[in-house]
Amino acid sequence: MGTVPRPMSPVLTALLLAAAGGFFAFTMLRRLAPLWALRRDDRADRAVERAAALLRFGLGQRRMVDPEEILPGLLHVTIFAAFLVLSLRTITLFGMGFDAAFHLPLLGPGTAIGRGYGFAKDLMVLLALAGALGFLWRRLVTKPDRVTRSWEGNLILLFIAGLMLTDMAFEGAERALAGLPFDRWAPAGALAAGLFSGLGIPAAATHAVGLAGFWSHLVLVLVFGNFLPYGKHFHIITALPNVYFQRLPPGGALRKLDLESEGASYGVRTAKDLSWKEALDTYSCTECGRCQTHCPTYVTGKPLSHKEVNRAIRRHLVERAPDLVRLARAKDAPAREAAEAALPALAEGVVPPETFWACTTCGWCETACPVFIENVPRLVDLRRHQVLVEASFPEEAARVFKAIETQGNPWGIGSNRRAEWCEDLAIPRASEGGDYEYLFFVGCAGAFDDRQKKVSRAIVKILRAAGVKFAILGEEETCNGEAARRLGNEYLYQQQAAANVEKLNGYGVRRILVQCPHCLNTMRNEFPQFGGAYEVVHHTELIARLVAERRIRPEAAEGLAGPVTFHDPCYLARWNGVTEAPREALAAVPGLALREMPRNRRQGFCCGAGGGRMWLEEKLGTRVNQNRVDEAALTLGEAGGVVATGCPFCLTMVKDGISETGREERLRVLDVAEIVASGLRT
Ligand code: SF4
Ligand code: SF4
Repeated sequence: MGTVPRPMSPVLTALLLAAAGGFFAFTMLRRLAPLWALRRDDRADRAVERAAALLRFGLGQRRMVDPEEILPGLLHVTIFAAFLVLSLRTITLFGMGFDAAFHLPLLGPGTAIGRGYGFAKDLMVLLALAGALGFLWRRLVTKPDRVTRSWEGNLILLFIAGLMLTDMAFEGAERALAGLPFDRWAPAGALAAGLFSGLGIPAAATHAVGLAGFWSHLVLVLVFGNFLPYGKHFHIITALPNVYFQRLPPGGALRKLDLESEGASYGVRTAKDLSWKEALDTYSCTECGRCQTHCPTYVTGKPLSHKEVNRAIRRHLVERAPDLVRLARAKDAPAREAAEAALPALAEGVVPPETFWACTTCGWCETACPVFIENVPRLVDLRRHQVLVEASFPEEAARVFKAIETQGNPWGIGSNRRAEWCEDLAIPRASEGGDYEYLFFVGCAGAFDDRQKKVSRAIVKILRAAGVKFAILGEEETCNGEAARRLGNEYLYQQQAAANVEKLNGYGVRRILVQCPHCLNTMRNEFPQFGGAYEVVHHTELIARLVAERRIRPEAAEGLAGPVTFHDPCYLARWNGVTEAPREALAAVPGLALREMPRNRRQGFCCGAGGGRMWLEEKLGTRVNQNRVDEAALTLGEAGGVVATGCPFCLTMVKDGISETGREERLRVLDVAEIVASGLRT
């Protein structure tokens, strides 16, 4: 082994480590120090759940392999696994810089574990090399839309390839100089050794290459590590913490603003109003673009890309780090005010209003993101500041706010007409104090929208057929404010939520039936913020249960021609995980042929109405609802059929999409309740 290139230099190794470590610490301090100035957000709770999520989604890379595009996910998983395995190798190589015979405990060259690790390490070297080259091919040759093309991305891949090649050069030279035969348990080293021998490279040159491989590997590791915090590859350091500190269920709940106290918060104006987690989010964005693939706004050409928002905020945080640090260190109010005054509003150039008003809060971006970056709360917080402080919002939103304030519904129809839809149905009222299993919260659409009133009546028919006892609030019902909250009017939302909770608690309500996924989400996930804890059930969930319990037995639905496809409402499927119940309810109808659209369940495509966008004009790009209707039409085929759904907003948007695209002859939209009820002979 005398000729083996092991020119160890404890001094050089120590100098390299000290210089790189010092610079790394300096950079990390600069990146993380501004976080102290940001809004607090307690993410130290539910440690076991967090650890489980970290194992599943962080170390397990669960979201990385996208069924729609498997190869890049596999390449990433390969490189990630290589990083984990090769971290031990890196420690070993630095140890060898001090002592040629260094090895980690249990990983000595003569031991079985050492040999096993040597094989895993070599395998990972080859796979990581293939992964880096595969990614380079993708970036430079196939260039998919979702990938941001940047020199930085290419450089990082060259770094990774360089690390693998230098490791191979060092180990290959060792093996060649030692005259070791080919060993399939050391495939990378043996391959490199074979090259040295096969090309007839003299021993001295092999020695020099081995030396260069060793030292350049160490230098590359240190340069690579120091380069990471300067760009999007900071995620290599921050992604696992970001996964650990993710928002735990219920994900559909927005935070409650404290509007009463002296230091009341009114959403996000400047960077300092973001939370430390939101800053960590932007550091963790890999720019993979998964968030864009089914984002209804991005796909239809509106100026919103979750990835670009992250990029813009990250750049801004870096630029404004000195101001934020000054703010964090401010000792008194004047110093704090001066530091705050130096920060520009995010809406002025960093995240422009047309960006955050475009979001439908459909949640696709958050579902798709492999590192659990939270987008919706941040965009709603930007809206909140515009509405609550600047009084700057689309005029259509102003009409909705006024209508909810004065009549308790976004249509602005007289609140005394709320029970007109069921005048002939003799439905008991909660105020009568009778015994009932469910309080049927009809919702504003179910009570005031002519089309949705038919769905309300279909639900009543099903409940009666199954013998379910229920009551309604009637004229006492008022809007729960969901649209107001997502449009940024937290003040109005809190008024509505408090009024609802007071009423429901007053009647001792425990179980609520809703027909709108937006009602479901806010009453199930957000009302607990106001002291309202109820079991809230969507009508499709209840119908599926009634079918399973054989309390209803639908016959063939009347007038149902052609196949049916189910459009998943985002607030049902994505935010509340209800995907199978509507399908089970439909499957109970004899003769119904269900066809799935390519974008279905949690990967469903928004109708364009969420986040209060139901009430706003869609002036930019193409129309979201038409995009969805195109997909439904393709799925149902030439002869057409029925688009089924379980949301009043989806129903409206799909209905409009059908007429806007001139498909009234071929397509119809129905609620699941209407389909099931039409098969009930009562
Ligand atoms: S936000 Fe998430 S999904 Fe979107 S580019 Fe960043 S890491 Fe990828
Ligand atoms: S929530 Fe939906 S609309 Fe908003 S950015 Fe994410 S994917 Fe796009």
